[in-house]
Amino acid sequence: MPDRVETTDVAIAGCGPGGAVLGYLLARSGVDVALIERAATFEREYRGFGWNPGVIRLFDEMGVLDDVLDLAHETVTDGTFSLYGTDVSVLDFDVLDTEYPYALMMEQPSLLEYLVDRADAYTTFTFHPSTTVTDLRVEGNGTIQGIEAHDRKADADVRFDTRVVVGADGRYSTVRSSTGIDPGFFESPIDLVWFKLPSGAIDARTEGRIDRNGILLYFGLGDGELQVGYPILDGEWTSIRAGGFSAFSNRIAAIDSELASAMYRHLDGFRDTTLLDIAPGTAETWSRDGMALVGDAAHTASPIGAQGNPLAIEDAVVIHDVLATALRDSTGVVPEETLAEFETRRRPTVERVISLQRRGAQNLAFWITYGQYVPELLVRGSASIFSWLVPQLPPIRKSIESFALGDRSISVTQSHFIE
Ligand SMILES: Cc1cc2nc3c(=O)[nH]c(=O)nc-3n(C[C@H](O)[C@H](O)[C@H](O)COP(=O)(O)OP(=O)(O)OC[C@H]3O[C@@H](n4cnc5c(N)ncnc54)[C@H](O)[C@@H]3O)c2cc1C
Repeated sequence: MPDRVETTDVAIAGCGPGGAVLGYLLARSGVDVALIERAATFEREYRGFGWNPGVIRLFDEMGVLDDVLDLAHETVTDGTFSLYGTDVSVLDFDVLDTEYPYALMMEQPSLLEYLVDRADAYTTFTFHPSTTVTDLRVEGNGTIQGIEAHDRKADADVRFDTRVVVGADGRYSTVRSSTGIDPGFFESPIDLVWFKLPSGAIDARTEGRIDRNGILLYFGLGDGELQVGYPILDGEWTSIRAGGFSAFSNRIAAIDSELASAMYRHLDGFRDTTLLDIAPGTAETWSRDGMALVGDAAHTASPIGAQGNPLAIEDAVVIHDVLATALRDSTGVVPEETLAEFETRRRPTVERVISLQRRGAQNLAFWITYGQYVPELLVRGSASIFSWLVPQLPPIRKSIESFALGDRSISVTQSHFIE
């Protein structure tokens, strides 16, 4: 027997970008909603920090953009890479067909805290931090009727009785695994090593460097920190670590010597690095009677093109409309056939993005493996052609636009809002 029973129309497992946006939108629509988060705080080291123009448009439609722009961030209006020392523009936001020609680089904690605060203004919203979803309540016919959870602060087992459970609990989703849904993970040829330095530790005037000895990515986060990414081949991290931190720094020095000396000054060895084990995937189905999966729980993006946050937020916007309508127009558990509308609207976009990311990962792996053998003159020549030609080629331009602007058919359904 649980120590406590809560009754709510919607229980959202996980307060990442997907869960936090959905919690806010449902609360603003007068829906009874419980947002359940395992962590005690909003700290999320090394999570997605890129928010593209498509997400900025959605923030505006949600009525939160002005406040979001007050949070610590960096604004990006173009993307430049150093290719063998030559700066090449790969993206100019001004040429995109959008009213929001910029992206934001911003860490998740302040944004998540802000969204939960906004949702908290509505009496139908409750937030349950330090509470881990451990299982689902499943009836004999397979219908999901709620969540089993443990509130660590109160040391209490809690049961949430629901009309619908939303699994927004990330790529290792407990909600998804409790239903036995296959996550559909793909092998990735690359992984990514992250570390942070004080901003100003190096002169990072481009978003990255492509060199015969490897690739580096630089992202200012607007909070006094610079995040650096170093793509490596899948499974290579164990041998890199075994080689020692000094050998690792030498690999970095071969691409950017200034960065390597900043690493010595500011990092406490491998302790200050994190491996993102890239494993993109798309779950076989995203709904059951009484349950839907969103964000990384439904489809895990790789960090290529910073698509994880946009996909999770677009999901939240679409399922907000599906849920607000279904909860208003029916009683009892929301059936799978209603929830499947969400998957029908989202799956084609998600599959296209993940397939582009997988192609990008293959190209990066090719470069990491063979870049050292490609003649420098050929790279420089291709770079000039690339920077001139790429924006003119419709398929490439379309891919860049879809990464930057997201799914433009999606809009926040403001008619559900109670004020
Ligand atoms: C370790 C890691 C590093 C990442 N780094 C990058 C990156 O550098 N760049 C990039 O673009 N993307 C990165 N991503 C991906 C990006 O952060 C996600 O695509 C995006 O955050 C997806 O949002 P979401 O809301 O679906 O899930 P998440 O942001 O993963 O949020 C899920 C939430 O659910 C909570 N949760 C999990 N299990 C339970 C449970 N049983 N009970 C209650 N709560 C639970 C988690 O604590 C978390 O707050 C990273 C993801 C991870 C996991």
